[in-house]
Amino acid sequence: MGRAPRPRLSTRRVRAVQPLDRLAAEPGRAAVFLDVDGVLAPIVARPEDARMPDATRRELERLGGAYALVACVTGRPSAVARKIVGVPGLTIVGEHGLELDPEAPAWAERIASFADAAAWPAERKPYTLAFHYRTAADPEAARAVLEQVEIDALAEGFRTRWGRMLLEVLPPLNASKGTAVRRLLDERSLDRALYAGDDTTDLDAFAALDGLEVAVRVAVVSNEGPSELAERADLVVGSPDAFAADVLRRL
Ligand SMILES: [Mg+2]
Repeated sequence: MGRAPRPRLSTRRVRAVQPLDRLAAEPGRAAVFLDVDGVLAPIVARPEDARMPDATRRELERLGGAYALVACVTGRPSAVARKIVGVPGLTIVGEHGLELDPEAPAWAERIASFADAAAWPAERKPYTLAFHYRTAADPEAARAVLEQVEIDALAEGFRTRWGRMLLEVLPPLNASKGTAVRRLLDERSLDRALYAGDDTTDLDAFAALDGLEVAVRVAVVSNEGPSELAERADLVVGSPDAFAADVLRRL
């Protein structure tokens, strides 16, 4: 006697739903990694105006008490991200993993000098600079100026990276959101994790989940983010609100 055929689900749905349920079944064995801007807090015209909704904060408080690790992995300095998130006790790793790199402090002075001399105002952080052009009257002209800033940065030995309406200038160190995620997992011997991101730098963290027993990569997509993010994700949502409602609440 044959069994009744099982209902067909799309590959993406099978890959995403089962691991999410597995993480939630044993939270004490799992890590939850969250980018901040564009994932927990909606992108806003001025980065200093970013706010996280109260409903998201309540979910993070609940998860923080249940999971082995809940960590925010962000491009912002951790002190700034901590204020936006506002949940005591969560791990926060800032500046794309540079805060965990012992070589980063040696670059702080050169980073500050580069900002002083640059032809575009920089968002200054201890180890990195972000040149935003979201509010520029002429984004194409702004981009042209920033392309020259990039050339100068590379000539001085820095690394550069383009993100959502911004150019970043960083020290030439092998630190990324991926190295941060890997380190935090290894320190705690965790083999199950979720990572949620919305931008190019989150791809490193997606890759850091390769090989885990349970891995859930969540893309919060927008028309500014890289198409690669959704392609490499196990689960795709359309906004920070949807992420809180459809993913965080299910964890
Ligand atoms: Mg982001």
